[in-house]
Amino acid sequence: MSKVKQLKARLQDANIRYWAGDNISEVMQAGDKEELINDATTAFEGVLDALLIDRHNDPNSQGTARRLAKMYYNEIMAGRYDPAPSATAFPNDSDDRYEGMLVVRSELKSMCSHHHQPVAGVAYIGIIAADKLIGLSKYTRIAQWCARRGTLQEELCNDIAREIQAATGAEHLGVYIQATHGCCENRGIMATSSLTQTTVLRGAFKDDAGTKKEFFDNIKLQQEFSC
Ligand SMILES: [Zn+2]
Repeated sequence: MSKVKQLKARLQDANIRYWAGDNISEVMQAGDKEELINDATTAFEGVLDALLIDRHNDPNSQGTARRLAKMYYNEIMAGRYDPAPSATAFPNDSDDRYEGMLVVRSELKSMCSHHHQPVAGVAYIGIIAADKLIGLSKYTRIAQWCARRGTLQEELCNDIAREIQAATGAEHLGVYIQATHGCCENRGIMATSSLTQTTVLRGAFKDDAGTKKEFFDNIKLQQEFSC
C-alpha cells in the first residue's frame, strides 16, 4: 500500500478532516514525510506527462516533479503536516503584570486552495494580555504555521485567531490581514493592484469602540513605520 493510502486510512479511521487548510500532524509518524514526498513525486510526474512536457529530455524539467513534491510538503503546505510550533507561555499574573494591548505584525506567505496560487501579505495580531504571555516571535510562527496550507484568506484569519487564542488564553483579540492574491494577479481578472483585507475581532476588540480604535490606530502606526 502506498504511504498516501496508509495516511488516508489513518485519517478516515480517526475521523479527521483533511481539507487543504487542515492540519493532519496527528496522524503523521517519523519518516512518513519522506515517503509521502516519494509518492507525490510520482504523482507530479503524471501531471507533467499529462501536460505533454518531455520531463526525460528537457533538462529544466528533469527534477521538477521531485522539486514540486518537496516544495509542497516542506514549504508551501508545511503547516498541514507539521505540529503546532511550541510556544512556551510565561506567567503574567504578578502585581506589575502587563495589562495593555500588544500588536504584532507577521509576514505571511500562503496559497489559495482554489487555484494553488500564492497569497502574500501581513497579519496584524492584537491581544489584551491575559494571564500568560508568549515570546513575540511565536505570534509570527503560529501565523505562518496557519498560513502554510491551502487556505482562503477568510479562513486563515479565523485560524490565526483560534490558534493565538489557544496559545495565549487571551479573551480579547483582533486579527487583521492584508494580502495580495496570485489568483487575481496571474490569472482570471489579472488585476495586479488587488488587495484583500479581512478582520476577525473577539471580546473587547469587537464590543468596545475604544479598544477597536486602539487596535486599528496601532496598525496605522505600524504601516507608517514600515513605509
Ligand atoms: Zn484562488
